[in-house]
Amino acid sequence: MQLSEFIANDTVKNEISEAMRSGTLPHAIIIDGAKGTGKTTLAEIIARYCVCLSENSRPCGQCPGCIKAMHNSHPDIYKADGNNTGELNVDSIRKIRSDVYIKPNEADTKVYLLLNCDKMLAPAQNAFLKVLEEPPANVVFVMTVTSANMMLQTVRSRSRIYSLYPVTAEQAAQAAAKRFPDKSYEEVQKIAAMCDGNIGQTIQILESGGEEAKKLADEIFAALPQKNEYLLLTLTSRLSANRAFASSVLDCMLENASECIKAAAGLSTNAAFAEEIARRMTKKRIYRLAENTEKAKEILNTNVNLNFFGTWLCSVLRG
Ligand SMILES: [Zn+2]
Repeated sequence: MQLSEFIANDTVKNEISEAMRSGTLPHAIIIDGAKGTGKTTLAEIIARYCVCLSENSRPCGQCPGCIKAMHNSHPDIYKADGNNTGELNVDSIRKIRSDVYIKPNEADTKVYLLLNCDKMLAPAQNAFLKVLEEPPANVVFVMTVTSANMMLQTVRSRSRIYSLYPVTAEQAAQAAAKRFPDKSYEEVQKIAAMCDGNIGQTIQILESGGEEAKKLADEIFAALPQKNEYLLLTLTSRLSANRAFASSVLDCMLENASECIKAAAGLSTNAAFAEEIARRMTKKRIYRLAENTEKAKEILNTNVNLNFFGTWLCSVLRG
């Protein structure tokens, strides 16, 4: 992706593209913004700019530098992700500190992407501060964090902060639709709206939602005839992850309920859970399953508090 393709956030985009054009990119950058606003995407565009070998319009997306960056195999781009244990602790930062003064291998600039710094503790940040205080030439650090306030003031004051904001649901739908040309625009729009314009979440659901939702719906139905309330609660609690996912799961559950009704009526079904439910639950309860799933869908559309939704669903499914 090029900077120009990065959705909305025009102020930040203009500032960065001006810095790129004039060769005045800051050596320490903090990108902050909520989950799914494109922090990593933007950090990666900056990294590609730094290692691009083209003379103009960097990153070109075509030179060996850009290609290697896109395949995560560029020797001058170092990535550490705070979501992976130990990657942003004091020891790791000390390793970076001893590495920064070694000249780049192939590009003119070395890039250190410190992603998801939310849990980067003060000792690690202080260790990092030492590099920021005496920054070596030709090194760019890009940190991403949900709020710049989670970084020490001393780190913040030596960095340029770019803040990203969620975009409108329509902008998110347009951006996501480009990545999923096979999906109907209506489906993408619906998911983007439910994710409140969070592109990352929209894409995540489009990528995994369908299959994952079906799997969870099947697991819930397999758990229904069992007497294990804890298992059912664990499963329904997963609907609290986000509204769009919950909606997909409920759609799959409705299909499952109609399989159970078929099985209870003695018709054949391919769903193993349906046979089991038909054997162990009364017809009345099976019909109520379908009704309550419908009801859950309505409630989900009324902006119910998602934290309680999983618990509520568990109780009505057991009723
Ligand atoms: Zn390039």
